[in-house]
Amino acid sequence: MAIDIYLSQEKIQSRILELAQEINKDYADKSLHIIGILNGAFMFTADLVRHLTMPVTLEFMSASSYGDGTVSTGELKINLDIKSDIRSKHVLIVEDIVDTGLTLTVLKKNLGNRKPASLKLASFLFKPARLEHKVDIDYLAFEIEDHFVIGYGLDYAGRYRELPYVGIYRPEGDA
Ligand code: 5GP
Repeated sequence: MAIDIYLSQEKIQSRILELAQEINKDYADKSLHIIGILNGAFMFTADLVRHLTMPVTLEFMSASSYGDGTVSTGELKINLDIKSDIRSKHVLIVEDIVDTGLTLTVLKKNLGNRKPASLKLASFLFKPARLEHKVDIDYLAFEIEDHFVIGYGLDYAGRYRELPYVGIYRPEGDA
């Protein structure tokens, strides 16, 4: 198994700083409730919040539409819900990747029904080639080509989440 580096650690960190500055401007006079989506967004969430300057509260939620392989099962599971009431709060969902858009479409609907004051989405990656359910991404770090990527929170069968960069996963035997 070979990993080709696709987004370097330096590139990721400087882009996250830019995104955080945008978020700081947009929420300058507000408090922000962050909902990080586990497992994939744990690293992006942690790096992003370090640069935020408004009062922040933070929770994680777990929802997925993927199994262990590289192909979507097309079904969404909410494995862990948030505990707080987000009514009247400014909520920012922090996600690892928008691929088909299914996860975020269902998740945004679910959280929107809880009547937050506002609901926005920050996504680390977006793969436009595979989009089936249109999702508005308010803060996007990187748009990427149609590769199965790993690292910086993203896994293949549970592995590689700890890598500080994003790589392209190529199974053994692939050129
Ligand atoms: P969607 O519902 O948008 O199709 O899929 C979103 C979820 O699929 C992501 O949160 C992520 O867990 C998984 N996913 C989609 N594309 C990739 C990819 O290229 N690499 C990895 N590791 N996970 C992916």
